[in-house]
Amino acid sequence: MEHRKIDTKCVQGGYTPKNGEPRQIPIVQSTTFKYDTSEDMGKLFDLEASGYFYTRLQNPTNDYVAAKICELEGGTAAMLTSSGQAASFFSVFNIASAGDHIVSSSTIYGGTYNLFAVTMKRMGIEFTFVKPDCSDEELNAAFKPNTKAVFGETIANPALAVLDIERFAKAAHAHGVPLIIDNTFATPVNCRPIEWGADIVIHSTTKYMDGHGAGVGGCIVDSGKFDWTKYPDKFPGLCTPDESYHGITYTERFGLAGAFITKATAQLMRDFGSIQSPQNAFLLNLGLESLHLRMKKHCENGLAVAKFVQNHPKIAWVTYPSLEGDKWYDLAQKYLPGGSCGVVSFGVKGGRAAAEKFMKSLRLAAIETHVADARTCCLHPASATHRQMNDSELAAAGISPDLVRFSCGIESSDDLIADISQALDKV
Ligand SMILES: *Cc1c(COP(=O)(O)O)cnc(C)c1O
Repeated sequence: MEHRKIDTKCVQGGYTPKNGEPRQIPIVQSTTFKYDTSEDMGKLFDLEASGYFYTRLQNPTNDYVAAKICELEGGTAAMLTSSGQAASFFSVFNIASAGDHIVSSSTIYGGTYNLFAVTMKRMGIEFTFVKPDCSDEELNAAFKPNTKAVFGETIANPALAVLDIERFAKAAHAHGVPLIIDNTFATPVNCRPIEWGADIVIHSTTKYMDGHGAGVGGCIVDSGKFDWTKYPDKFPGLCTPDESYHGITYTERFGLAGAFITKATAQLMRDFGSIQSPQNAFLLNLGLESLHLRMKKHCENGLAVAKFVQNHPKIAWVTYPSLEGDKWYDLAQKYLPGGSCGVVSFGVKGGRAAAEKFMKSLRLAAIETHVADARTCCLHPASATHRQMNDSELAAAGISPDLVRFSCGIESSDDLIADISQALDKV
């Protein structure tokens, strides 16, 4: 499938029915799987044979859809999770534990920031946050002997900063750790981080991939490129025997291509159970079948809206990575030449109150915490998703109190602009 174009992978990747089998991915709505002998099942528990035994760990429907996303990203193995949050958590917790340290971009999704800075900190994992446009010196200074990974977002939600993936990958690899990239906003249609040196790619599939606001979900893709065995002391979980699986060493048994995802499935899914329901995986796949078409329209609408607000007298500023003159324009041209995303951030003159008045006056765009949906929606992060941050944390995350995150759907851009225009008239 490697030689096929991304459009074809969106439609047909991951699942190839054999003679007489269903054309569409079957929903395997079963918690459990039947075996003829205890020995057969024992082999599964020992990870000696591959197969399904309990949907808390793995389900065929999920694996078909994960295989499609794996192909789209150009990885070697992938798994679905119950949410993007679970994907972020697993991607880090699979290689870091109490006493370890992670370097993360400061411009990340508010939920991820909370997970890292509050919840995982409570678990004993420490994070150092660096600005995506920090100097190489600052970036390298963030590493410690116990650093286990670097984390960032291709296009940050909601700051829309574009990460210099190559630069961050180089720094991570120089310190012997992998780069984990959250590619939710770009999607593999617009950017494939593995091609730029990322080692692990994660998604909130809840956004563009599902695309219809139907199901919460996440995904983790491993590139298979990071050589854990070069640093066995750093990554003992992958390079030394797992006593909970009869002394299996993941890198020995499953190779670099499979070790990371097998460990995450065998340990983290087993213990935390953050599996996506097969029904949601089926819906996610329907979304993936049109991802390449929808992303084009999202990007077209995003650029049209960005250009409109850029010249509007009631708008203080606009951020859209594909807009000429934008702070992130050059990086967007490099990493996202075909378009960035449908999300445009802007500030309404008059600050917080004006932003709230603008939001209230919109007719077509709905106020939602959701983003990256076929239907246009918008959010005022300072009073919603990022409300637990103080002003300096907000500033570090690239968010000002007047910021409106406007997520262009796939409606007509004429109607979106007309809606914004009438709402600005009321401010
Ligand atoms: C929404 C989002 C998440 C969290 O995903 P959920 O599916 O809501 O758990 C993570 N990263 C980014 C960039 C997001 O936009």
